[in-house]
Amino acid sequence: MIWNPQYECQESGERRLLQLARLKNLVETLYSRVPFYKDRLDEAGVRPRDIKALSDIAKLPFTIKDDLRETYPYGLLACPESEIEEIHMSSGTTGVPVVDAYTRYDVECWEEAMARTLSGAGATRHDTVQNCYGYGLFTGGLGVHYGAKRIGANIIPMSSGNTQKQLMVMRDFGSTLLCSTPSYALFMAEEARETGFDFKSMKIKAGCFGAEPWSENMRHQIEVELGIDAYDIYGLTEITGPGVAFECECKDGMHVNEDLFYPEIIDSETGLPLPDGEKGELVFTTLVKEGTPLLRYRTRDVTFITRGTCGCGRTTAKMHRLFGRTDDMLIIRGVNVFPSQIEHALIEIEGTDPHYLIVVDRGSNHLDEVELMVEVKRELFTDETKSLESLKGKIESVMKSKLGIQLRVKLVEPKTIERSVGKAKRVIDRRSI
Ligand SMILES: [Zn+2]
Repeated sequence: MIWNPQYECQESGERRLLQLARLKNLVETLYSRVPFYKDRLDEAGVRPRDIKALSDIAKLPFTIKDDLRETYPYGLLACPESEIEEIHMSSGTTGVPVVDAYTRYDVECWEEAMARTLSGAGATRHDTVQNCYGYGLFTGGLGVHYGAKRIGANIIPMSSGNTQKQLMVMRDFGSTLLCSTPSYALFMAEEARETGFDFKSMKIKAGCFGAEPWSENMRHQIEVELGIDAYDIYGLTEITGPGVAFECECKDGMHVNEDLFYPEIIDSETGLPLPDGEKGELVFTTLVKEGTPLLRYRTRDVTFITRGTCGCGRTTAKMHRLFGRTDDMLIIRGVNVFPSQIEHALIEIEGTDPHYLIVVDRGSNHLDEVELMVEVKRELFTDETKSLESLKGKIESVMKSKLGIQLRVKLVEPKTIERSVGKAKRVIDRRSI
């Protein structure tokens, strides 16, 4: 099911002309309306008239997450504030949030992108979409909602959590498409088994899964346990939310909505563009965004891109599964966590040594679990166990308030954590995603 063949199956030469026209327009808009970008373009010595071919994009400056934080809340706005209809913010719970502001047209483009995404998973107006992504500042909930509305499907805005009710609704209202994180889908399967819900007898036939990294193994497990087809989707708040790229029935890479978001792969060290098929950092330019358009946004996600006509008939570029990130960010239950945040929090707690290790695993309930091993002063171990217990509780509560996630703290004696000669190893990620 292809929602918009005009753009999704466009001849590549025609698409490049469209992308070039949109890129020129974007650079002109940013140069004349956003002082941040005018300065950046001046520094790079590039004027809007210098953009003559798509390859000229390589002359343009990058945008990074810190740029978005430093211009909070409205420093990157490219339209009058009165034209903003909706705002969303990044899911990270610490520091200054990343803001995405949408005009009416931006929301329409988002609806379009998500209609294509859900259609890629086979959805039509006859479907009932059970949306388990959180509604609110997070883009997942409303993104799916808008796409399902555009298609004309029946949408059940469940939001996340309350698994027994999710299962009851799925059974009683005959949901056919599930939208959630992949780990939540497996969690539902387990709850279903324990409480006697039989997925195979329900009408559910497919699912769109995203917002966290997952693997082919996990896809296989979801497909077997829920008896559905599982599709990968990709998006990020900075660019628009979900709907940036999605899988078709070939399940071999995600089609990028290229008429809306221009993808590049770069060498993260040199910043130079890499050819198709080569692995590097994924970069997006928003081609039609009016509210907060971005030039060459560095996602920090590592993947590669391929082009050609897909078995499904679409001609858009495909981005492949993520190989990881160029920074050390961890995604724990949908929350972005940097090891440096844990380090900073620990420094302020008396009695701890600056040696720690973060061990991330996926628990038996398929949800992420984090253990934080912390070395503490030797005298604490000779002391009463009471002081150890209270320190443990203190660290756990500080981490909960600073990071927004619950983690388990294990206090260990000095020199327990292995020392490395080079860069300290702070994270062991055992999640077999
Ligand atoms: Zn395809």
